[in-house]
Amino acid sequence: MIRKPLLQTGIFLAAIAGILLPDTGDGYAQPARQLFAAKPLPTTQSPAAYGFYSKGCLAGGVALANDGPTWQAMRPSRNRRWGHPKLVELIQQLSIDAKRNYGWNGVLVGDMSQPRGGPVSGHASHQIGLDADIWLRQMPNRRFSQQERNTTSSTWMLKKGTPYVDNNVWTKAHEGFLKTAASYKQVDRLFVHPGIKKKLCDTVRGDRSWLGKVRPYWGHQSHFHMRMKCQAGLGKCKKQAAVPAGTGCDKSLDWWFKVAYAPKKKIKKPKIIVKKKKKKKKVRRYKTMADLPRVCRVVLNGPGPVSLASVIYKPGSAAKPAVSTTAIAIAASTSDSPAAKAAKSVVKKTISTDRLTVPTQRPKP
Ligand SMILES: [Zn+2]
Repeated sequence: MIRKPLLQTGIFLAAIAGILLPDTGDGYAQPARQLFAAKPLPTTQSPAAYGFYSKGCLAGGVALANDGPTWQAMRPSRNRRWGHPKLVELIQQLSIDAKRNYGWNGVLVGDMSQPRGGPVSGHASHQIGLDADIWLRQMPNRRFSQQERNTTSSTWMLKKGTPYVDNNVWTKAHEGFLKTAASYKQVDRLFVHPGIKKKLCDTVRGDRSWLGKVRPYWGHQSHFHMRMKCQAGLGKCKKQAAVPAGTGCDKSLDWWFKVAYAPKKKIKKPKIIVKKKKKKKKVRRYKTMADLPRVCRVVLNGPGPVSLASVIYKPGSAAKPAVSTTAIAIAASTSDSPAAKAAKSVVKKTISTDRLTVPTQRPKP
């Protein structure tokens, strides 16, 4: 039963909303991020990125497994561990290569995309399944619980109150980790805090060719953002302009420290009182379906899979997994029972021969 005053208030609010939101005549007036956030699973279409990183959607997305031998997916409550299969594959490869070559003890993965991509709160991009935030913190030797994954933070890389990297937290492994990511030909660019870019410019010796792909940007003090190239076979996505030639260790980087983060000078206020013009309040306009490629409506309303398990990325999914999910769950536990010891050795052996074997389920915390 709905009480009358409540009903009237509801009608009133709906009327107000009708006035404030543009009526596009197709039932898509509300912010697109709300529509996409309401879809818990991807579509079963073949994988394709549509549109641009900041204006698009994703068909046939797959999830990064919550746990793998060399990674853990963070922030499960957000349901943003989705991407184009090629991105998920790349993240897994990064976790293996960085460990093998630079001793980076596994990757903690932050926001990727929503199951069907689309605009997402807190990010301008991450819309087409080709972007991923990777923490600048190594995976611990244990599994985080689900609660920890929602509350634990990454490492703040800057010296307190400055835009420069804290030398007490920066390591050569950080450099190797970023170099690994930037060196993949499928990677278009990485975004890092300008202080991190400066650290690389100041300290990287030998091969510096990969530095050009590392782009300084606001935020990114405790994670870097990995963007895959929009290329043939990934869908109808729009390419971003190529990064400028060179390492980027130049005037464009200096700008951040000379202008953007320059200490503010104290200016004595003049005694004459000047009437200030009233600033117009900026009304934030959220993207609606009208801003996205038309095909995104098909993606939004497309059929979903039978289960979550069926859309968790498994490399060479036709093949039987070499290690059962139970074995990995036991191996990931802290138990020292004979069964756990045996499972650990099986998983260890298999991972070294079949490096991309992943569990389909998160081991219990
Ligand atoms: Zn990002």
